Amino acid sequence: MNNIRMKPFLLALCTFLIVLVSACGEEEEIVNDETTSPSDQSGEISQETELDDSKEQEEVVNPEPEVKEITIAAIGDLLIHDTVYEDAKTKKGYDFTPMLEKVKPYLNKTDITVANQETMIGGEDLGLSSYPTFNSPYEMGDALHDVGIDVVSIANNHTLDRGEKAIQRAIEHWETIDMMYTGAYKNQEDSQEVRIMKTEEDIDVGFLSYTYGTNGIPIPTGKDYLVNLIDKDKIKSDIEMAKKQADVIILSLHFGNEYERMPSQEQKDLVQYVADLGVDVVLGHHPHVLQPVDWVEGKDGNKTLVAYSLGNFLSGQDEFYRRIGGVVSFTIEKTTEGEQDNFEVKSPKFLPTFVDFNMDDWNDYKVIPMYQLTEDELTNVDMHYEEIKAHMSQWIPDLEFIESE
Ligand SMILES: [Zn+2]
Repeated sequence: MNNIRMKPFLLALCTFLIVLVSACGEEEEIVNDETTSPSDQSGEISQETELDDSKEQEEVVNPEPEVKEITIAAIGDLLIHDTVYEDAKTKKGYDFTPMLEKVKPYLNKTDITVANQETMIGGEDLGLSSYPTFNSPYEMGDALHDVGIDVVSIANNHTLDRGEKAIQRAIEHWETIDMMYTGAYKNQEDSQEVRIMKTEEDIDVGFLSYTYGTNGIPIPTGKDYLVNLIDKDKIKSDIEMAKKQADVIILSLHFGNEYERMPSQEQKDLVQYVADLGVDVVLGHHPHVLQPVDWVEGKDGNKTLVAYSLGNFLSGQDEFYRRIGGVVSFTIEKTTEGEQDNFEVKSPKFLPTFVDFNMDDWNDYKVIPMYQLTEDELTNVDMHYEEIKAHMSQWIPDLEFIESE
């Protein structure tokens, strides 16, 4: 506010009122007096006389709106086939960190980074397994932690692949490495605790996660907490509960049709439903290929940022589009004016990535930012990169692409 100029008599009045307030502690006296209201910008106020006593200014002038922001990033499916975990095998166990080394700079600089861990990390003792019923090494979780992932979404169609035991072991490991998990829980009580990431900027972000199904594997009776299914009523009540505790809601949805590059009507309808409920961001997974990013308007005029499908971030799938994934990032801006906080999702950006591997031996897996790829790693790389950029930005033409660290 610029209203720091006042007539001398107003200055005197202010000073008097400040003394009065500090003497008797009755704030209402000043609040109700229009002549000292900071919003009083009427013509009566002279533009000539500066009020240069900074102490008094602080008492009567509202501060500028305070703006703070955080950056959030998210990646798609980590679908750990046997070729991938065998490539990660070391003398002591497994190490997936070399595979993620080239993308680490885009994951560890943000305030919060989210990943979709599609396969349960039930650990080697349970017996590792690949498609169709996966179980992955604990070290996959360690690698995610190492590259800067803060939250994992674990409601997927593969959550129940190896039964309750794999889920419980995975959760135990997530807890050991202090990783926030959402969408599958160890018990009823755990499932009722909304996952909220608190930040230094005082922006609290809530994470919810649901899957369309579990590949026909029934959820054990009375143990619905083991995986969150997409159920509109449940999603609605969870969002309402989360909104009471968090400033911003990020919802992971495991949905859509595998290998389809555009969202289905069902995906669009569900996204509209959650946009109407005021969800700020939707992170889509499951098609294993990239689907475009969009802004969807909710019924109250609110805008929801939607990544319909983030594709495969790391998997053993070899079809071209299934080797492409990416990092979506955006900022959450908090503007504080007086007692009022406003939160806005801004500046969506995207980094397309490619799973490079040795196709003769099915090893040497590496996730590489597409803009860094060489012609040796991918023939016609420029053409493919441009096509992916056009595909992702078809509904947000000004979507920015990340092309530096
Ligand atoms: Zn899936």
